[in-house]
Amino acid sequence: MSLNLRRPTKRHSKLETGLRTATLTIRGGIPKNYSCSIDMDYEARYRQAQRPKYDCLLFDLDDTLYPLSSGMAASCCKNIADYLVEELGIEESIVPELGNLLYKNYGTTMAGLRAIGYSFDYDDYHRLPYENLKPDPVLRQLLQGLSIRKLVFTNADKVHALEVLKRLGLEDCFEGIICFETVNPPSSSTPAAAGVFDIVGHFARGPSVDGVELPKTPVLCKPSPEAMEQALRIANIDPHRTVFFDDSARNIQAGKRAGLHTVLVGTRHRVKGADYALESIHKMKEALPELWEEAEVASAAAGNIRYSAGNVAMETPVTA
Ligand SMILES: [Mg+2]
Repeated sequence: MSLNLRRPTKRHSKLETGLRTATLTIRGGIPKNYSCSIDMDYEARYRQAQRPKYDCLLFDLDDTLYPLSSGMAASCCKNIADYLVEELGIEESIVPELGNLLYKNYGTTMAGLRAIGYSFDYDDYHRLPYENLKPDPVLRQLLQGLSIRKLVFTNADKVHALEVLKRLGLEDCFEGIICFETVNPPSSSTPAAAGVFDIVGHFARGPSVDGVELPKTPVLCKPSPEAMEQALRIANIDPHRTVFFDDSARNIQAGKRAGLHTVLVGTRHRVKGADYALESIHKMKEALPELWEEAEVASAAAGNIRYSAGNVAMETPVTA
């Protein structure tokens, strides 16, 4: 027989009404305890429907948590060029082309340098004008208004990431930092190649002419799929319930392929793979107001639980 279990009443919300009017087919009559079992089923589905859409925010660091106008990126480019000439002895005239080829083919210049055979100390790589970065109370307040997980995912090293967060006054706003060392632990490093691969000559001749493949980099970094997967696995992130913020269109596209919800930062123009585009990270509340609405609901619910249990909730500190 077919049975409509409950007739919707005005007391029920639209969501409740939809769930409560489920139709059930019962052969051989209605069991005496049907009301109880149906209520349990309803409760489970109701809780599922009430679950917030997102449970984690994943932020790139450079040019995402602070604007490109800080001048950090321009200084970084100049430092890299100087480093290639002064420390690695690369001919100055080929530096622009070399840098471009490495970046295009390996995600970062550093990953490319390692791939073609250079070995260097990563600590020498960043000599940046950190004094350009100032505390950002607006972003701090936005982040602290959200109780869900928040992590940084950067290709940079830990020293740089900590320095940037400290300068921005955001060092205590994140559960952790997924940085270069996180996805490239010391045990994963490989010895430098015996010689240096001529990547400029390789492309000048045309890859299809010499039949030689580009060497693989031993370094994992965005936007490689392996780096994305590694970061999500290490931080135990469900990509389908996570919003990923990055200023790089390539990284956003890699994030989308990994299943993340994506926000391109630094422009109002969406690119393929970006669910949203924000001129500034300060606009995140306007683009995703539901994050703060869900936070308010969760906060109210947590308050009720604390009150009835008579306990004081404490945050669990998590280190980077
Ligand atoms: Mg960036």
